[in-house]
Amino acid sequence: MPPLSEDLAAVASATTGFLPEDEARALYDAAVSAPAGTWLEVGTYCGKSTVHLGGAARAAGAQLVTLDHHRGSEENQPGWEWHDPSLVDPYTGRLETLPSLRHTLWDAGLDDVVTAVVGSTQQVARWWTSPLTFLFLDGNHTEEVAQHDYAAFARYVMPGALLAVHDVFEDPADGGRPPYNVVLRALGSGAFVQEQQCGSLRVLRRTAGPWQD
Ligand code: MG
Repeated sequence: MPPLSEDLAAVASATTGFLPEDEARALYDAAVSAPAGTWLEVGTYCGKSTVHLGGAARAAGAQLVTLDHHRGSEENQPGWEWHDPSLVDPYTGRLETLPSLRHTLWDAGLDDVVTAVVGSTQQVARWWTSPLTFLFLDGNHTEEVAQHDYAAFARYVMPGALLAVHDVFEDPADGGRPPYNVVLRALGSGAFVQEQQCGSLRVLRRTAGPWQD
């Protein structure tokens, strides 16, 4: 499969977000090797990783769904470490990243490959039933929500398909533990085996056999 085009790489690196270049490349390489079908990204923000995944989806013949309520996680709120005042919507006074995502997808020309779903993972989990051939977990990093997102969506990852988890830090000194705990849960269940690690990105493959959690 080809690497991400220079045009899309330029759009991705100009997009606000939290994804180092080496991890972005590893994410693209994993995704582009995934089967065609439906892919799901949990945690869109302004669409930086969405460009990498969308480019991979186009190359692989897949459709990418990217899910976010677009009002930011705790760490993006005013007074917190990762707050960006330019992303506050003056109408609501709240963080609002949906317009940024729309502009990113427009610049990337990925509107026909990427479907943005706007809502919380708890809302969408109530009706989601589609089998997945790639799942990227990069949403809210509290223990409660990280575990929820895994429980809600990992069960739809088909045998042989891929699960990627971002911001996985084994050492608590490097970052929050919930994504690491999710990886431990996935490996401990026997439903996934680890295939690759790049920085804080882990890529796991769904084993054969029935779902177990
Ligand atoms: Mg992340």
